Amino acid sequence: MVQLPERLLTGYANFKSGRFEIERGRYEKLADKGQNPRIMLVGCCDSRAAPETIFDVGPGEIFVMRNVANLVPHATSQDTGVHGTTAALEFAVNGLKVEHIVVMGHGRCGGVKAYVQDDAEPLSDSDYIGKWSAQLQGADNPIRFKALNRPELDHCGLLERSSVIHSLENLYSYSFVRDRIALGTLSLHGSWFDISTGELEYYDEEKGTFFKV
Ligand SMILES: [Zn+2]
Repeated sequence: MVQLPERLLTGYANFKSGRFEIERGRYEKLADKGQNPRIMLVGCCDSRAAPETIFDVGPGEIFVMRNVANLVPHATSQDTGVHGTTAALEFAVNGLKVEHIVVMGHGRCGGVKAYVQDDAEPLSDSDYIGKWSAQLQGADNPIRFKALNRPELDHCGLLERSSVIHSLENLYSYSFVRDRIALGTLSLHGSWFDISTGELEYYDEEKGTFFKV
């Protein structure tokens, strides 16, 4: 038998005797009645940008889908292959019937950086990161960057935000998302988290750029 890493065992012991005890009733209710989160959050795998920590939420409150660079693929790219992101999206929208989908980018995103530094060596022969982050092409556009009106940002900072807008646009490519938006039962949101200052920005669709919350 291979025991879990020490860090996880320590954390679990703290959780079990602390938070779980305090919220035992809530866990039992969630186990009994099932989950009913009203918000889906699409975030990055980055260990520094954990949505549950940033938004201080408890069990059952948000349905989180994390992937490299918090990307939502376009529906037309999903006809073949296996699709963790889209499966989670389909379940959140049609199964859980969430009322909000939030795409959250973050500062110093390694996925965005890997795309910008296109001379970087692939991490394997298959270059899965390269293929996945090629989706950022649609967001890497000077016209989009200009619309953000954030001259203080570098290429990565602009792309981190532009890619959030791109993912929001891609969400519209799914008919089940469009249908729920048309019914007024689903709304989309964009945000960006700064891991060094803890500041959070939201996307203002009307103004086409991000502002601090
Ligand atoms: Zn990231």
